[in-house]
Amino acid sequence: MNTILNETKAVILDMDGVLWKSNQPLCDLKLLFQSFTEHHIQYLFATNNALRTVNQYIEKFHTFGVTVEEWQILTSSIATGYLLAKDFPNGGAVHIMGSKALEATLLEYNFTSTDENPIAVVGGLDMDVSYERIAKASLFIQAGIPFYFTNPDATYPTPQGFLPGAGTFLATLETASGVRAKIAGKPQPFVFEAGLQRLGIKACEALVVGDRLETDILGGFRAGCKTALVLTGVASREDLKTWKPSPDLVLDNIINLFDDTDG
Ligand SMILES: [Mg+2]
Repeated sequence: MNTILNETKAVILDMDGVLWKSNQPLCDLKLLFQSFTEHHIQYLFATNNALRTVNQYIEKFHTFGVTVEEWQILTSSIATGYLLAKDFPNGGAVHIMGSKALEATLLEYNFTSTDENPIAVVGGLDMDVSYERIAKASLFIQAGIPFYFTNPDATYPTPQGFLPGAGTFLATLETASGVRAKIAGKPQPFVFEAGLQRLGIKACEALVVGDRLETDILGGFRAGCKTALVLTGVASREDLKTWKPSPDLVLDNIINLFDDTDG
């Protein structure tokens, strides 16, 4: 097992490009999760994708023959709730331009939805967006109401090609209002901080694993966690040459975490 795991109480894993590529698992997930359990390491999952609900992720894990629980999955909606709660500890009413799933998650963090006198404007990927909704949110932001957004990903991959992601609507609102949003998802540290809070552990006790340097690895670094890049997704060894600071570990595959490197 890699020596870094000796000091690790939990791993926070990106999913696409780490555990699977669309419907193809990248390793034996059952064996991977058993190995974590054997070594008394808790495991959580962190994604910027707010399109799927937590339950849809649980379903996806089922198709690979493994069971995970709701509390193990962190989305950019959860990161947004966490960030809002940090800035507004008493909760309150916010104006939401986003999905019903985002609205439901924010409610769990004590933030209700309103179209009048919001304490903040919260944006995310919105499949029912209309000119009226963009205009309404933009007017609140121009009036000086703090502006938050789930994640900056411009697109998301589908079998037909790349479709407009949350970042498309982020750009729309920022252009319309002339104000930059406070981002909750990766590469900001909040999704990882929300995970640390759930587990009650310190940042240095967690290892963040991902396949993208500019989101997973940067976000994990900003949260103060150790980081591991896997080469099964977007980033290559070539990309590492120009990237600072280097991740603590580079793995050909996530399962290599348990290779014996102690000599
Ligand atoms: Mg990924």
